[in-house]
Amino acid sequence: MARRKKIYEGKAKILYEGPEPGTIVQYFKDDATAFNAEKKDVIEGKGVLNNRLSEFFMTGLNNVGVPTHFLKRLNMREQLVRACEIIPLEIIVRNYAAGSLSKRLGIEEGTALPRPIVEYCYKDDKLGDPLVTEEHIAAFGWASQQDMDDVVALALRVNDYLSGLMYGVGIKLVDFKIEIGRVYEGDFQRLIVADEISPDSCRLWDLETGEKLDKDVFRHDLGNLADAYTEVAKRFGVMPKNATHNAKPTLIN
Ligand code: UDP
Repeated sequence: MARRKKIYEGKAKILYEGPEPGTIVQYFKDDATAFNAEKKDVIEGKGVLNNRLSEFFMTGLNNVGVPTHFLKRLNMREQLVRACEIIPLEIIVRNYAAGSLSKRLGIEEGTALPRPIVEYCYKDDKLGDPLVTEEHIAAFGWASQQDMDDVVALALRVNDYLSGLMYGVGIKLVDFKIEIGRVYEGDFQRLIVADEISPDSCRLWDLETGEKLDKDVFRHDLGNLADAYTEVAKRFGVMPKNATHNAKPTLIN
């Protein structure tokens, strides 16, 4: 059997060439990193949980008409996605102050923001993904003005969908990061949500207790990360049946 071609290996995922042109296989690793990879660990079962959760959120978005790259889950750790040309930006949407926004502006974590705030970071690990404005994006040609109008509209639709979904299971969506890519259909270009949506890329707080159910558990040593992600998966009813993070790998259909 031919070895498949690795396209890219990132901190939490590996991308392989897909079975058909225009497709990619996205493999979720157990590696966890924080603070620009200064803190690293392997969290057994994290990849399996993120594969399921990203499938769940992306499928929901597809179903309400927000286009994403997700095509289908292949197995415990892999999903088939549409290849796209990633805009080199991390698109962050915030509903409550936390993390770098709290630090930068001196706003207490958990403060409700007057309206959702969209921010952009330039994707460059060597530079630590610096915050940039639409001025930089336009001047350096990372995306056109039309792209940016569509990016904001998409990001806010994702925020509305995810906020409501989370609220329904007793979770506050504090903030999240998405990546967006371009696909070409005939003469038209369309933007789709890409990468992943998981507790690695969102801040999720229990509505009643304020307990953190996201990567901040790892960033700030607040407990067991896989337990936190398992709690999120359970609330959405997407807990892998044959596999908790303590179980041995099992084949599933
Ligand atoms: N985020 C992410 N990847 C990054 C940076 C941020 O997924 O490289 C997510 C992070 O998990 C949080 C949101 O984006 O949900 C806002 O992060 P923030 O800017 O507060 O940065 P942090 O405090 O994580 O450094």
